[in-house]
Amino acid sequence: MQSEKYPLLFSPLDLGFTTLKNRILMGSMHTGLEEAENGFERLAAYFVERVRGGVGMIFTGGIPPNLEAGFGAKLSTHEEAEQHRIVTDAVHAAGPDVKICMQILHMGPLALQENCVAPSAIKSRVGKYKPIGLDEEGIEKQINDHVHCAALAVEAGYDGVEIPASGGYLLSTFLVEKTNRRTDRWGGTFENRMRFPIEVVRRTRAVIGPHKILTVRIPAMDMLEDGMTHDEVITLAKALEDAGVNIISTHFCWHESLIPTIATMVPRAAFTSVTGKLRKVLRVPLITSNRINMPSVAEAVLARGDADIVSMARPMLADPEFALKAREGREDEINTCIACNQACLDHTFGGKDVSCLVNPRACHETKLNYLPARAAKRVAVIGAGPAGLAYATVAARRGHAVTLFDSASEIGGQFNLAKRIPGKEEFHETLRYYRRMIEVNGVRLRLNTTVDASMVDRGSFDEVVVATGIIPRRPLIDGIDHPLVISYLDVLMGQRVVGERVAIIGAGGIGFDVAEFISHEGTSSSTDIDEFAREWGIDFLNHPRGGVCGVTPVARESSRTIFLMQRKTDPVGRGLGRTTGWTHRITLNRRGIQMFNGVEYLKIDERGLLTRINGEERLFEVDNVIVCAGQLSNRSLYDELTAEGLNATLVGGAFEASELDAKRAIQQASELAAVI
Ligand code: FAD
Ligand code: NAP
Ligand code: SF4
Repeated sequence: MQSEKYPLLFSPLDLGFTTLKNRILMGSMHTGLEEAENGFERLAAYFVERVRGGVGMIFTGGIPPNLEAGFGAKLSTHEEAEQHRIVTDAVHAAGPDVKICMQILHMGPLALQENCVAPSAIKSRVGKYKPIGLDEEGIEKQINDHVHCAALAVEAGYDGVEIPASGGYLLSTFLVEKTNRRTDRWGGTFENRMRFPIEVVRRTRAVIGPHKILTVRIPAMDMLEDGMTHDEVITLAKALEDAGVNIISTHFCWHESLIPTIATMVPRAAFTSVTGKLRKVLRVPLITSNRINMPSVAEAVLARGDADIVSMARPMLADPEFALKAREGREDEINTCIACNQACLDHTFGGKDVSCLVNPRACHETKLNYLPARAAKRVAVIGAGPAGLAYATVAARRGHAVTLFDSASEIGGQFNLAKRIPGKEEFHETLRYYRRMIEVNGVRLRLNTTVDASMVDRGSFDEVVVATGIIPRRPLIDGIDHPLVISYLDVLMGQRVVGERVAIIGAGGIGFDVAEFISHEGTSSSTDIDEFAREWGIDFLNHPRGGVCGVTPVARESSRTIFLMQRKTDPVGRGLGRTTGWTHRITLNRRGIQMFNGVEYLKIDERGLLTRINGEERLFEVDNVIVCAGQLSNRSLYDELTAEGLNATLVGGAFEASELDAKRAIQQASELAAVI
């Protein structure tokens, strides 16, 4: 079915032997379901929702072809292939016109295995073990294992396979000299270095036959100082075409490179021009990806001629109906991926179940469902921050009559502060989504209404939900009431002018965001690709080796002098998100922000902030001290209500402020609203 608004996105793509119904690919993501109890049934349910939601093609999470290739559910036996049938049968039954390909992922030196392998015994900066350098026999085994795995994937009912040759995984480590020091026919010249991926592809094609999809993910710009030149990328891509790939997928960056490619601070579609350049010289269709999270962005990528297919991975976690809503012109109902990584990649690397901050149903499709309520109740939700919004919209969607109150003039709670931080512009999308869900589900919204216990009429509501959030902690420091002390709320709302020399007490998520806010000058690089490229030292235009060789990041020093401090002796910023924290630390360091740990706060007076660090007193002569010292639950309303004998439910920060974030607030509220 065509779409007037997104004609390119919804145009079919003829691959010769088969046709993709549209250009929307759900990109590969390891979810952990592969190894979970009843994992294949859960995976099937997860994929089927995305099939019903309109995707044209799905690439599964990476499946290792053997034991040394990576952890988890490998595919090397007929019994294992049988398990995958649960997924492929379900997907094909739900969408006979949807293709599903299995990703064969050999992690090489990044595998969390002591017996991990690589072309040479060189440990990756981000690998756990030093890999075993492969001998000729070992190389043959690895190729054969890929081919055998591909044959089993076809036996299991997949429409094809994707093989990553990027990211620092096995195939890519053959491509560059830094990880391939071999002097035999698998190393040395570029022709020799690309022999391994080409052999994998050539032999795989021979085994799976001409009527299966074979895609390779190449390092189109690997972001390594000693990475591939643009000419080498083209040579590799052309050789892969000749070896039998149907589609080339482009990847940017090895995991060890210190350039963000998927965090929220990365501009939308920042890397697609790299794919576009390559597309001009290749015959096969190309896939592009990274930070493409709305249909208008995807359509623009196709309109520029940057790619033939747009891969969206995390956006499919955030909203399984992304494609359907786009096709029907309901894009304002899309729950947009905000690229926070908090519930997806941070969970993958933390060994936790993957889900999505804005959609806690992701990967929990068999466990968390919003079924029609047996009896409609009258529900009052007090507080329209993320917790109240999630509760109200889920409950209303299930058929309850919900009234949502907030004392502010707009919904969103602390998200209205988060969205002001340069690099967090995506938070606007979550608020747009909730505004629309309030309309679609008929939630009665009462803004500018501060609720007190006397206003909660027992006769009017069957359920009262208190989502009143938090109040900022005011630490007991001598001089905390001095006029130079400011709360982060006042800073972010622009209610106080901040001086030139500033100390920030508290280096958690909000301390870092405030440091970003007051040190930032000019355009936000997350909305400007050229600025982003300058800040991180990437040359998209000339594509030197790796895209970065010889390009110096241009740091925009802050005109303010900023000291960011914490009491803990851990390195500052350690508690930030696993996959994004490093980007914040690098950015602030480059701007000259000075970070201190192990700080004891002694006194604040007109001179500034007196501290003790490593046993020595130190005075920070500052104009302002900004307090970002965590949160306390705002539960006075709840206490009043329960004192009067009324039953109420607490959610979000009002329930528990310690270690609160939006992920927990939305998940808890959604789970509770699913069962009233
Ligand atoms: P809140 O968002 O605090 O909402 C509570 C609401 O209740 C408010 O709108 C308030 O007006 C209303 N209210 C209170 N009392 C009453 C009353 N008596 N009557 C009516 N209304 C009332 N989290 C993340 O996960 N990732 C991030 O990247 C992130 N970045 C952040 C950046 C900043 C700058 C800030 C400040 C927070 C950030 N957070 C982030 C934290 C996240 O926003 C909070 O965890 C989340 O908002 C908590 O949701 P909540 O609904 O419990 O509370
Ligand atoms: P937080 O991350 O818990 O950090 C609180 C900071 O205050 C810490 O640095 C803590 O360090 C300090 N602190 C705590 N008690 C103190 C006291 N009594 N005196 C002085 N300092 C004290 O909380 P937050 O920064 O307020 O953020 C709130 C939530 O929003 C967090 O859970 C966070 O995950 C979330 N958030 C996330 C992001 C993100 O990018 N993912 C961004 C912003 C906010 P010491 O105890 O060592 O001093
Ligand atoms: Fe996107 Fe964040 Fe959800 Fe991951 S957790 S899919 S990054 S919104």
